[in-house]
Amino acid sequence: MRKLNYLSLLLFVPILMVSCGEAEEKNEPLDSTEDAQMNTESAQWDADVTLTQEQRDALTPADVVAEFKGGNERFIKDSLTPRNREARIEATAGAQYPKAMILSCIDSRVPVEEIFDQGLGDLFVGRIAGNFADEEMLGSMEFATKVAGSKVIVVMGHESCGAIKSAIDNVELGNITTMLGHIDPAIEMTENFPEDQRTIKNKEYVDAVIKNNVKHTIDKIKTDSPIIAEMAQNGEINILGAYYNVDTGSVEWLDE
Ligand SMILES: [Zn+2]
Repeated sequence: MRKLNYLSLLLFVPILMVSCGEAEEKNEPLDSTEDAQMNTESAQWDADVTLTQEQRDALTPADVVAEFKGGNERFIKDSLTPRNREARIEATAGAQYPKAMILSCIDSRVPVEEIFDQGLGDLFVGRIAGNFADEEMLGSMEFATKVAGSKVIVVMGHESCGAIKSAIDNVELGNITTMLGHIDPAIEMTENFPEDQRTIKNKEYVDAVIKNNVKHTIDKIKTDSPIIAEMAQNGEINILGAYYNVDTGSVEWLDE
């Protein structure tokens, strides 16, 4: 019994410490302007803990995107924020308040949290080869936003995507055939290339298909998820497309 109580204390004490520490430092409720400054000017501010629900809810979608842009700059400079993983595990054991959901390919060169300098408890991440959104992924996105309160959905394709190249090459193998079928609409959207240039040897063409796949996925999210479409319409969330360069580590934001 004593052991159980001790464990309970271990669980709650870090949360209390976090709450008290913030109150002492700020002495007033956070507003979105302060959060934006916190995100862009001080990567160390919350290095050891995740955002509280109040802090996360105070963020605007634009604040979250600004934080991702700063995080990607830190990633490129190889200056990722040091984080106390143990404290984060303890602080998030009871609840989570991630600020965004990112849909990415499974590619090993695209470590999503690292790319944006985010830590345990900061993001929902959906990964599937070719970063498309089927019904199950849409359900995951609805959970991340409508149920769990995330402010942003990012659909991120990447340079040299093997899934996209395989779809262009009409690869057929086991369940991969069905999976690559989800990328066909992006290939159909990329018909403004002469037929003999629609090959995986043409980087410009492959990149165009990768970016059209992101656009198609965003369109599909808005069409097939009335819940997410309404949240985006109301300004509660932003849905953004991104392209990750495996050559440089940089994220290019699409349609900006
Ligand atoms: Zn890929």
